[in-house]
Amino acid sequence: MQAVQAVPFYRHSLGEEADIAAVSNVLKGTFLTSAGLGREVEAKLCSFFGTEKAKLTNSWTNGAVATLLALDIGPGDEVIVPAMTFIATSNVVEIIGATPIFVDVDPGTFLIDIDKVCAAVTTRTKAVMPVHLYGQMVDIAALRARLDDTIAIIEDCAHCFEGTLNGARPGAHSDAAIFSFYATKNITCGEGGAIVTNDADLMERLQQTVLHGMSAGADRRFEGQLYRHWDMARLGTKANLPDILASLLPRQIDEVDTQLAKRRSIVEKYRDAFSSSNLIQLLDEVPGGVSAEHLFPVGVAANMRDLVLKKLNQSGVGTTVNYRAVHGLEYYRTKYNFARGDFPVAADWGDSTLSLPLFPGLEPSEQDYVIETVLKVVAEAASETGLA
Ligand SMILES: *Cc1c(COP(=O)(O)O)cnc(C)c1O
Repeated sequence: MQAVQAVPFYRHSLGEEADIAAVSNVLKGTFLTSAGLGREVEAKLCSFFGTEKAKLTNSWTNGAVATLLALDIGPGDEVIVPAMTFIATSNVVEIIGATPIFVDVDPGTFLIDIDKVCAAVTTRTKAVMPVHLYGQMVDIAALRARLDDTIAIIEDCAHCFEGTLNGARPGAHSDAAIFSFYATKNITCGEGGAIVTNDADLMERLQQTVLHGMSAGADRRFEGQLYRHWDMARLGTKANLPDILASLLPRQIDEVDTQLAKRRSIVEKYRDAFSSSNLIQLLDEVPGGVSAEHLFPVGVAANMRDLVLKKLNQSGVGTTVNYRAVHGLEYYRTKYNFARGDFPVAADWGDSTLSLPLFPGLEPSEQDYVIETVLKVVAEAASETGLA
């Protein structure tokens, strides 16, 4: 028997001398929370995305809550979200007391279906939160053209820092685009996120909603050694990113193209290896798009997915599921009385998909082992479940 070679699902690449120096520089300064360094990173984000404004946050989730609060969305309002996404997308709508309205996704890309978004709009619709799932972008310009101007578009860019569609980056056609710098995302500082927008008024309100609703941040309150009173005009959450974490971001932003090229070559090798298998479904690629290649999901028959997953894990291949459909999870299913077939494309993909290791530091020998193991295990599972 072949020795089991463990290949992790993800391995981060932080910890270089430059990262350690960046963190220690913050520790040698005055402010442990959000201050000058974060502002520098925000300027870097503005220039990368070509947006007017950027705000670092301590997670995608808190950034999205702050954005919904800044847009005055709350009880009685509806926000349209895809049924195929990570739970955070709809959870933030629940957290602020609004109602998530799920819609189904495209059966080739699993991105939110724009026709179905338009069909789900009601007089209560305040926003749509499309998700750039796995790194490929939803056509935000097309969505914008079909929605009434009163409906905000908030892009969930947790999977898509580097992606473009028809040359446009996230933030170009929406009210706000929100990123995650969570531990396994393409750019990470352990926990973190950012909001980019071209709407200066929205950013004014966001400055407050990311910090309890206070009218001035900690460093501003003591500017020039003079204490300044602050007021609270609207309700906020606590979403600001401390500079200790922000310090880990500039190097990664500078290196993003190199890292994306590594991700892309890993993806191409996977696609080549699996394209001739009729047991493995690959994602359709969005025409005119550049994917951020955040995840590499494949589809297998639903009746053997969990068996394949188990065999891969037993063979040392780090494999996850991104994601089982949100409407089928207990909280949503029971609260809204959803049936599996309400959003059948999301439900079916959620039962068929599994994600393989994809990160820039994946060694060629590791990827060879993953490919060999996937092909072997899928064939075994097919014969055990009577598919082949
Ligand atoms: C990771 C993720 C989030 C949540 O990000 P956090 O920074 O952990 O809050 C939201 N949406 C999607 C699609 C994600 O994958």
